[in-house]
Amino acid sequence: MRVVGLTDMGLVRQNNEDSFWIDQEQGLFIICDGMGGHRGGEVASYLAVQTIREYMETNRHQAPAGTLVQSIEQANRIIFQTGHENAHLYEMGTTITAALIQDFHLVAANVGDSGLYLIREGVIRKITHDHTLAEQMLAEGVLKPDEIKDSSYNHILTRALGIDTAVKVDVFEEDLKPDDILLLCSDGLTDMVPDEDLLKLILQAGNDMEQAAQALVQEALSRGGHDNITMVLLRLN
Ligand code: CA
Repeated sequence: MRVVGLTDMGLVRQNNEDSFWIDQEQGLFIICDGMGGHRGGEVASYLAVQTIREYMETNRHQAPAGTLVQSIEQANRIIFQTGHENAHLYEMGTTITAALIQDFHLVAANVGDSGLYLIREGVIRKITHDHTLAEQMLAEGVLKPDEIKDSSYNHILTRALGIDTAVKVDVFEEDLKPDDILLLCSDGLTDMVPDEDLLKLILQAGNDMEQAAQALVQEALSRGGHDNITMVLLRLN
């Protein structure tokens, strides 16, 4: 497996509230996009990554899907509790997208709007569904698909970690193949760069995941870099 993680503050924000984690040995990959003032977003995304990786390490021989969901629920409780015990961290929250890859089997889990994409045989497909008001309005027929990108509801999360005592986690499972590419990323990338351009830039870089990740960041920056840009990009052998 070739894997690279990259984060960039972008051109507008004064801090970086995204976090990522790569554990190649366990096959665990995480992206979190934090929110909340006074450093709350940074704390929330950091707490999520640390809680999930520790939980997965401790329970590594348990059933993967259930354990991944439990680790995210545990992160939710810790962020919620920490936010309520520290006035300056009140109402901090974070998205979470995690991928656990073992023996060419993917278990993915997400809350919020950090995406997971599968690129196979020249086609890009989003595996996760975003938990935003715009996606909810699309599901209810209030918005049309082509109205999503420009909708102001596209940035309003309907779910995040740390906001309530309980959280609903979505789980996706896929069998993977050699040469499959997975991209986990914060919305600072996907708001700036449309899916077809993500695909084009990744394919142009061939097998070089480092080069592909750099190209994606440069593209997001050249289009304005409005937000923190973070990704984990990996290709299976
Ligand atoms: Ca963001």
